[in-house]
Amino acid sequence: MTIEEKKEEKSLNFIEEIVEDDIREGKHGGRVLTRFPPEPNGYLHIGHAKSICLNFGLAKKYGGGTNLRFDDTNPTTEDVEYVDSIKYDVRWLGFDWVEERYASDYFDQLYTFATELIKAGLAYVDDSTAEEIAALKGTPTEPGKPSPYRDRSVEENLDLFERMRKGEFAEGSRVLRAKIDLASPNMHLRDPFMYRIKFAHHHRTGDTWCIYPMYDFAHGQSDAIEKITHSICTLEFIPHRALYDWFIKNLEIFPSKQYEFARLNLTYTVMSKRKLLQLVNEGHVTGWDDPRMPTISGLRRRGYTPESIRNFCDRIGVAKRDNLIDMSLLEFCVREDLNKSAARRMVVTDPLKVVVTNFPEDKVEPCQSENNPEQPETGDREMPFTRELYIEQEDFMENPPKKYFRLAPGQMVRLKSAYIIQCNEVVKDADGNVQEVHCTYIENSKSGQDESGLKVKGTLHWVSASEAIPVEIRQYDRLFRVEDPSSEEGDFKDYLNPDSLSVITGYAEPALQSAQPGDSFQFLRKGYFAVDPDSTADKLVFNRTVGLRDNWAKEAGK
Ligand code: ATP
Ligand code: MG
Repeated sequence: MTIEEKKEEKSLNFIEEIVEDDIREGKHGGRVLTRFPPEPNGYLHIGHAKSICLNFGLAKKYGGGTNLRFDDTNPTTEDVEYVDSIKYDVRWLGFDWVEERYASDYFDQLYTFATELIKAGLAYVDDSTAEEIAALKGTPTEPGKPSPYRDRSVEENLDLFERMRKGEFAEGSRVLRAKIDLASPNMHLRDPFMYRIKFAHHHRTGDTWCIYPMYDFAHGQSDAIEKITHSICTLEFIPHRALYDWFIKNLEIFPSKQYEFARLNLTYTVMSKRKLLQLVNEGHVTGWDDPRMPTISGLRRRGYTPESIRNFCDRIGVAKRDNLIDMSLLEFCVREDLNKSAARRMVVTDPLKVVVTNFPEDKVEPCQSENNPEQPETGDREMPFTRELYIEQEDFMENPPKKYFRLAPGQMVRLKSAYIIQCNEVVKDADGNVQEVHCTYIENSKSGQDESGLKVKGTLHWVSASEAIPVEIRQYDRLFRVEDPSSEEGDFKDYLNPDSLSVITGYAEPALQSAQPGDSFQFLRKGYFAVDPDSTADKLVFNRTVGLRDNWAKEAGK
């Protein structure tokens, strides 16, 4: 075995090991079919991305496929808007499914399965109220007690179940339960619900049904109907596995198997659709695609690339224990990707005017500046050099400390891709604030053709004051002030960061004028920025994707 092969073998995650074992044993003829089963009750988030990369990635690696299955058994919270957004996001992440399925496609089949269990004496209609059922359920250490309806005849159960379907009974008045084991230490096996009555309109089946299958009765059976070989879900479903197997065994259907891995949790955010929906509905964010949201659509709008999200999911691996992943790892991944692909541009956000006194008033001199040093083939763009320029306020100090290599009276700096300038005069207003600085440029010092022989230590970004275009820049900080808002006392929303958005104006070099929504740039010395769809012909809007360095870790003293 070569070192490469060894490495490869070592890096198998535990699910890949299971799949490889199955293939070796010829299980299902070596076939691998996974599924990604979102409930269409919200937009996908980065946790779902982990599940998508795992399910689709696994199938791809082993020559199989993946079904996209909408787990739409809960009509009250589901919507087509969510279905459409989910399909869009999965494709955007770079994956395609073999078949698009809906659990609701199987309502007839599931109903038939239920009647088969009734006929086998393995399911019964219970007329007890929810409270009565809960009271008889027992505790993990104390067995449950049978409901008075547990030993109904098959005929009576079939009749009642059919009438449940026909809408003869009120919501909450009856349920269909599996007859398993009231003494089981696994509470999920103590005669779990299979069907409940719900007079709700379903986004696909309309008003055809007034009984809906529970997750546990729908999921495994849907897997079996589709002949899914590896049904991968998150750890909270471990106690459901026995029930998953029980239904499959007693229905004698395709033996799909469930495997569990740890949910992805990220610092400084929340990762549940229910909570994210609250943020949207209560106006804490502008929508599901607010760039502060951990949703795929929010990350996309923020400037994240599919590659960066896939790399992130790869890097965190597949864990067997719940953990909290540092947001800065996600940021590292997008920085790494954009460093390769994003064109460089100059933007000044806190302008200080520089007047180049020895440069002609009306002259506009083009300076060539490289688009991307990581991709020399992308060539140069032109930056206009003029008599009046902007640099950042923080790049000038009137009384600098030692080793301050930026602009200061008497000091020289290089303007990136242009000339070396020297500061000769500081112009102040009546209150003593610096209004502008006067400099001279060194004529033979132009970048690329520098014959000045001067050595300067500081290089600044700059724009032409007359040629620059004002743009809006939306800068984002963590959505929450604490690492794990869900584990704090009280309402998670009490921990929102009130300063998660700040809007500033930037002065951008004219090459940015043609930028289109979705384009990403590195603003030199600042970070990565993506054009927001809110941009108009008159005004470009940029979202700061991420800074150049991990400032947060520094601030937190990490
Ligand atoms: P939420 O609590 O956010 O609604 P969910 O698990 O109810 O999450 P589903 O739409 O039911 O959301 O999930 C679809 C698939 O994505 C499931 O297989 C689920 O296990 C997986 N998934 C959801 N959240 C995460 C996460 N944070 N990490 C990894 N996988 C996840
Ligand atoms: Mg769910």
